[in-house]
Amino acid sequence: MADKSCAGCKEHISREQEHLAVNELGQFYHHECLTCSGCRDILRGPFSLWENSEPLCDRCLDERSPRCAECQYPVSDVKLRTKFGYFHPDCFVCTTCKFPFINDQERNYFNVDGRPYCHRDALDEISHPGVQGSGGFQETAVRDAF
Ligand SMILES: [Zn+2]
Ligand SMILES: [Zn+2]
Ligand SMILES: [Zn+2]
Ligand SMILES: [Zn+2]
Repeated sequence: MADKSCAGCKEHISREQEHLAVNELGQFYHHECLTCSGCRDILRGPFSLWENSEPLCDRCLDERSPRCAECQYPVSDVKLRTKFGYFHPDCFVCTTCKFPFINDQERNYFNVDGRPYCHRDALDEISHPGVQGSGGFQETAVRDAF
C-alpha cells in the first residue's frame, strides 16, 4: 500500500504515527495537523465539513452559518433558503397561525407584503383593504427552496 502523506503539513505519515483518515475528503492527517479552517484550532472531537471541503469546529460552524430568520439561531445542516431568509425547516411558519409549511403536503406558502402565509391566512390577509402585496400574491413551493 502506498505511503500516506498528511494533508495538513504535507509530511509523510509513517506507520508508527497515529493519524486520522477523513473519508469525506479522501485525505489523511496527523492527529495534530487536522485544524479548523476558521480558527486554526486542532480538531480533536467531531467536526463538520463546510461546503464538503473545509473542516470546521462547532464554534466556527455556528459563526459561518446563516441565522434563522425566525428564531435567530444558526442554521447549519438542514436549512431552508427562502426569499425571506434562511430558516430551520420547523421555523418556517405562517405569519398568522404559525403553521410550519414543512408539514403541509403541498408545502406551499404565499407571499403577502413580503411575509409568508398559509393559503387560508393569505386569502384573509389580502381581503383587508389597504394591503398591497409588494411582491404580489404569489404561491411558492417550499420544496423548491431546498
Ligand atoms: Zn501532518
Ligand atoms: Zn474553529
Ligand atoms: Zn429557527
Ligand atoms: Zn396560517
